[in-house]
Amino acid sequence: MENKIRVRFAPSPTGHMHIGNARTALFNYLFARNCGGTLILRIEDTDRERSTPEAVQVIVESLKWLGIDWDEGYFGRDEHGSPMEKGALGPYTQMRRMTLYDKYLARLIAEEKAYHCFCTEEELDLKRKAATEKGLVPKYDRKCSALSKEEIEEKKKTGRFAVRFKVEPGLVEFEDLVRGKVVFNTDQIGDFVIARSDGVPVYNYAVVIDDAEMNISHVIRGEDHLSNTPRQVLLYRALGLNQPLFAHLPMILGADRSKLSKRHGETSLLAYRDKGFLPAAMFNYMSLLGWYPRDGVEIKPKEGLTAGFSLSDVGHSGAIFDEKKLIWMNHEYIQKLSAKELADFCLPYIKTVDVAGKSPEWVVGMFETIKTGINFCAEVPELSKLFFKPDELTAEGLAILAAEGAGKVLLALKAELSKTQLTKENCKELIGAAGKAAEAKGKDLFMPVRLALTGAMHGPELAHFLPVLGNEECVRRIEEALKKNSK
Ligand code: GLU
Repeated sequence: MENKIRVRFAPSPTGHMHIGNARTALFNYLFARNCGGTLILRIEDTDRERSTPEAVQVIVESLKWLGIDWDEGYFGRDEHGSPMEKGALGPYTQMRRMTLYDKYLARLIAEEKAYHCFCTEEELDLKRKAATEKGLVPKYDRKCSALSKEEIEEKKKTGRFAVRFKVEPGLVEFEDLVRGKVVFNTDQIGDFVIARSDGVPVYNYAVVIDDAEMNISHVIRGEDHLSNTPRQVLLYRALGLNQPLFAHLPMILGADRSKLSKRHGETSLLAYRDKGFLPAAMFNYMSLLGWYPRDGVEIKPKEGLTAGFSLSDVGHSGAIFDEKKLIWMNHEYIQKLSAKELADFCLPYIKTVDVAGKSPEWVVGMFETIKTGINFCAEVPELSKLFFKPDELTAEGLAILAAEGAGKVLLALKAELSKTQLTKENCKELIGAAGKAAEAKGKDLFMPVRLALTGAMHGPELAHFLPVLGNEECVRRIEEALKKNSK
């Protein structure tokens, strides 16, 4: 039998993809893949002022980067700029579904469940203020609901209008798969606008028509939409359409439990891509934003996350986006990569690290040396800089290099390097031999070596670092350092 589970991700293309939106997409994905359902991507572009084609592209790009694939809906644009779609219930972009919204709107008006409203913004504003001053919930006073057909036709010729849905007194109840029973009293709601003069529908109306027409079985979205849901339930009832099940996901908060904002880290998903986070780590971390696996194992591949996902394990309280934990997890994922895989992943992000002219072995060796220190790729330029150029010497460093003993050590090391090819295994021995020849040990031996080769008094393990640097570059740096030695 065909699986009837159908979920959708329905973003509005108005900017970057926020972490919160990406989490909504991810939970829809986990849910659909867990139960063999269908995931649909629908673009909600009825906000004409804020929607842009670029933002639509960002949505597709963000989902693909995170590793979310979908089965039906919008898939981007082809080379001629035409939308690519898959599925029999399209179009999957709201502005291309106007005839459908018109059809249901006409029905609501004919059945007197909705009416035209010609009140101006100024008029409504004054009324809202007056209500608030009296301590009342501002609600439309139904002034236009009493207009006759003739009056409506007459007013339509000149003025702009809205279509309002008539909200009758009573309770709206629904069972939320995350939050349990939710009850709203409609006296808090008031007749709300569902379409504007130009026929463009308002979110709460369009979403109902689309979810019903696309046979959506579960609406999984952020809790910020919870207050919209009673309005949508009223519309389903008025139109006699099948109501989906609802699951409202807890809000994503910063570590201080306030609404997630730039203060807590990046809020755009692709900012993490641009910093060189691994999509698999991001996918893993984000799946824990409100859901926790029953077995308590947090680091899991996609298949494990999908297999264990259940809406009944989604928490009610806010999900904390802890960038430190994300960084820790990304570090863990990075450690699982080989140095070659890491190099292949990192280098496209870090154009400032110029490995042109370096051999593949050199590049892999460098990544092997710095791997344990990498949390995300944007750190690679800093962690790898000594491979390209020693640090600037400090006054203290210069003084150490200027001493007579330092000169002897460096000359002796240069001599050793001309005889023996450096390896990880013989590096200590080689420095030891230079020390012997120069009659230096301990700090007197290692400090001039470290300063000459790295420019700094602390830094990488020399036995790992020097063999990657190679004999030739080591000798070159020693010669530079010897110039600072006057004796
Ligand atoms: N376009 C809405 C948004 O991006 C969709 C909300 C919903 O899932 O119903 O918030």
